[in-house]
Amino acid sequence: MKVYEKAPAKINLSLDVLRKREDGYHEVEMVMTMIDLADRLEMRELPRDSIVISSQAGYIPLDEKNLAFQAAKLIKERYNVRQGVYIHLDKKIPVAAGLAGGSSDAAAALRGLNRLWNLNIPTDELQRLGAELGSDVPFCVTGGTAVARGRGEVLEPIPDPPQCWVVLAKPSINVSTADVYGRFRVNPALKPSTAGVTEAIRKGDFAAMCRSLGNALESVTLPLYPEVRQIKELMVRLGADGVLMSGSGPTVYALVQRESKVARLYNGLRGFCKEVYAVRLLTSTGGGAAD
Ligand code: ATP
Repeated sequence: MKVYEKAPAKINLSLDVLRKREDGYHEVEMVMTMIDLADRLEMRELPRDSIVISSQAGYIPLDEKNLAFQAAKLIKERYNVRQGVYIHLDKKIPVAAGLAGGSSDAAAALRGLNRLWNLNIPTDELQRLGAELGSDVPFCVTGGTAVARGRGEVLEPIPDPPQCWVVLAKPSINVSTADVYGRFRVNPALKPSTAGVTEAIRKGDFAAMCRSLGNALESVTLPLYPEVRQIKELMVRLGADGVLMSGSGPTVYALVQRESKVARLYNGLRGFCKEVYAVRLLTSTGGGAAD
């Protein structure tokens, strides 16, 4: 028996860091949504009791450091599953990019193994398991669009944003999420408006949503990596309606509604960056481009 799951990337439409907590995590408030850029997981039963991960991507760990491995191990332990599993990860989401690729793989593994082993674990329990693996995993279990609070695991689903194109550019630098959070200091002058983004989404007002985009972590990543700021500026010059860094970076995305602008942005960015993607938002009403 085999099951397949799609593991889409997320982008932050807002990301505010409120404070550092005593447990070492940061209290955040952010709006996240999924885009149609996805890894694909194939999960197959193994007769022997082991977890085997493979991937065409040579640059991710395939052992217990892999988040899909950790998801499988957690489910096996909690639900006393004796069968083994072979998981193939077809990676399309750039790694360490601020797009939650690893978290989405973990969430897809939880969903897929729930089906493969007929465990009937309810979604909220899958999310609780996910929170043990990483702060973004609970959101990735359900996807959609949500305001995330706490360390990212307290979720309030909201309507989908107005449909648009998302043109992403990832400069060839590695940014460590832990390092960015470690350097972050709260600056009230740079406060992203989560309320502004959610209000614009509820009204279906694309222009207001673009004006409200904000990410507090840009205050750390932009000064450290000038190319991230340069890409943002280039996107604006190329006609983007809204521009923001996702997560802790370094990926920057541009939102545009007019299809005629997509090629201009894509081609303009390709001259600057090797990794550029043009995709649609993954809304519940569809409209996603094939990847
Ligand atoms: P976030 O936005 O949640 O911070 P990210 O997009 O910045 O995530 P990931 O792509 O999830 O980062 O990768 C972060 C690290 O996790 C990498 O250094 C990678 O080695 C490790 N990792 C573990 N499992 C996976 C996986 N399945 N896919 C990608 N990276 C993984």
